[in-house]
Amino acid sequence: MAGNILQVDGLSVSFDGFKAVDDLNFYVEEGELRCVIGPNGAGKTTLLDMICGKTKPTSGRIRFRQHALEKMLDYQITRAGVGRKFQTPSTYEDLTVFENLEISSPNERSFLGSLFFMRTPQSTERVVSVAREIMLGEELERKAGQLSHGQKQWLEIGMLLMQEPELMLLDEPCAGMSPREREATADLLKRIAVGRSLVVIEHDMVFVRMIAHKVTVLHQGRLLAEGTMDQVQNDPRVIETYLGH
Ligand code: ADP
Ligand code: MG
Repeated sequence: MAGNILQVDGLSVSFDGFKAVDDLNFYVEEGELRCVIGPNGAGKTTLLDMICGKTKPTSGRIRFRQHALEKMLDYQITRAGVGRKFQTPSTYEDLTVFENLEISSPNERSFLGSLFFMRTPQSTERVVSVAREIMLGEELERKAGQLSHGQKQWLEIGMLLMQEPELMLLDEPCAGMSPREREATADLLKRIAVGRSLVVIEHDMVFVRMIAHKVTVLHQGRLLAEGTMDQVQNDPRVIETYLGH
């Protein structure tokens, strides 16, 4: 048994009395690629916000390895090995693909780090290898602003990869992508899940089926169902509340 890399116990958060996440238990194993689905407003993004320290829970515990994430600040959580991709890509449009990746390397993340950052053959090699991984090996000198929406999503995944996170949280990585880009993204996520754990929020069921080991269905901030894609798709509660319409 590999054990859990992430353990979320009794997690809740209220916004002005409204429970966006309500007493949630959520466990992700080492090396697992988990998909989280659910209708709009189910609390999926809020769950990721709490794991990465953007939103403080009202109650509950979030364990990542030996770290109690609910007690840590966002940059400490990043440093501990949790990488988060938000719903809309946030690349530096005026910088090239190469530069976007380079400034995302861990030594570059602090102001002092960037002052003393030295480009070495090793650091360049790392950028090039990540660029190839995210299918942008031929676009190194292009400005991020000139990339397609799908390529920007890949670049942002690459910026996360530069930090070598052990747990990656991706919020709708396929939003705005063509079916072909989606397929390439599915392959990309399967590749980068080797040796690390991924939590992916996604609406597209075809995509989820391509990548998910296990699927968690959220509804109104609570766990509705969990299991393989086939199990959740055949779950009457899921059909009723989500897949039925
Ligand atoms: P999902 O990602 O599943 O579509 P969200 O996690 O974004 O859903 O939102 C869950 C619910 O919490 C929604 O009703 C949303 O309006 C509410 N919500 C999320 N963040 C905040 C916030 N910072 N303040 C108030 N309400 C919020
Ligand atoms: Mg969302």
